Amino acid sequence: MPFDTDAPSVSALEFRNVTHSYGAVVAVSDLVLSVSAGETVCLLGPSGCGKTTALRIAAGLETPSSGELWMGGRCLFGPSVHVPPEQRGVGLVFQDYALFPHLSVLDNVIFGLEAEKPAARKGLAMDALSLVGMADYADVYPHTLSGGQQQRVALARALAPKPSVVLLDEPFSGLDARLRDEVRDKTFHALRQSGAAALMVTHDAEEAMYMADRIAVMRDGLLVQLGVPKELYQKPSDKFVAAFFGEVNSFPGIAEKGVVETPMGHIPAPGFADGQPVDVVVRPEALRLSPAQDGVFGPGYAKVLSSRLLGRSSLVHLCTCKTTGEELHLHARVHGAYMPSDESLQAIVLDESQAFVFPGEAAT
Ligand code: ATP
Repeated sequence: MPFDTDAPSVSALEFRNVTHSYGAVVAVSDLVLSVSAGETVCLLGPSGCGKTTALRIAAGLETPSSGELWMGGRCLFGPSVHVPPEQRGVGLVFQDYALFPHLSVLDNVIFGLEAEKPAARKGLAMDALSLVGMADYADVYPHTLSGGQQQRVALARALAPKPSVVLLDEPFSGLDARLRDEVRDKTFHALRQSGAAALMVTHDAEEAMYMADRIAVMRDGLLVQLGVPKELYQKPSDKFVAAFFGEVNSFPGIAEKGVVETPMGHIPAPGFADGQPVDVVVRPEALRLSPAQDGVFGPGYAKVLSSRLLGRSSLVHLCTCKTTGEELHLHARVHGAYMPSDESLQAIVLDESQAFVFPGEAAT
């Protein structure tokens, strides 16, 4: 894969064809990725896909098998170059805050500022605490803080030395849902204001969409798609990426004359040969329902099996029917106010922008 040509010529952080193996396991394979100053890139993927290994390579905690790592035009790892972690000047934020219990919040942040002049340290630490909304807690000890507050202090400690690169490994996963939203928001704004390049690991697609300017989806050590969140959501490169951004309806089909026949009508399948097996992927929110008392159960209509209110949306379990008579169970996600009764017949219309056709798995 060529270098990332969309990125500015000097990236804050750049992986150049980085590979790392643990024995026979290739954890990261030929990774090419750049992060610009002020940009947040999320590494997203399932457990074991190599996200943390990539982050640890950037931090200098792991030595790659091959490739080069650059920061701000400086080679940190390459043939005969290996800059140790403490000389990389990156900010690190891990899941487990790792604050010193015997130091106050202020002293925890000052601890990371030993390279600064002593007279400047308190001011820099207070600036960083203000950035994450924790200046009022400067004199308290970590054990008196909630998990979310501790994580904000950890972020302040990472940002206080004004690093050009911040690396975050699942920084919100130890927090409960309510705290997670709050800390995520604070982190988003603090990173924006800091101007640092941020590389963040997450396995949560919604979190990646919330935080990232660009998302790098990984699978089995490979970067499978890189782009802005909208691009990944609306133009996934394959079924794996499509399914990673939320539950999908997925079923096999056959391409014929540039379309695939489905219970919701024809879906465009440009570029597929006649008779080619395909996988059709339809997001539940792509299915629009309306009452159809006079309809007949068949293509274009669906029978309701069950409706479940999920809050802002409802999940409707549907039974649909192909022209062949074969039935297909689909999920529709509709506005929460719409809960059609069991056994009712619904007209079903497809939003084609949320339906995708990929080569059938048997064919790939
Ligand atoms: P998770 O989300 O579960 O943390 P991940 O995407 O961050 O997963 P990595 O931790 O980078 O994935 O692991 C990638 C692969 O490398 C996995 O197969 C893992 O088992 C393997 N691996 C990671 N660290 C080591 C190690 N120290 N020794 C041997 N194998 C390792």
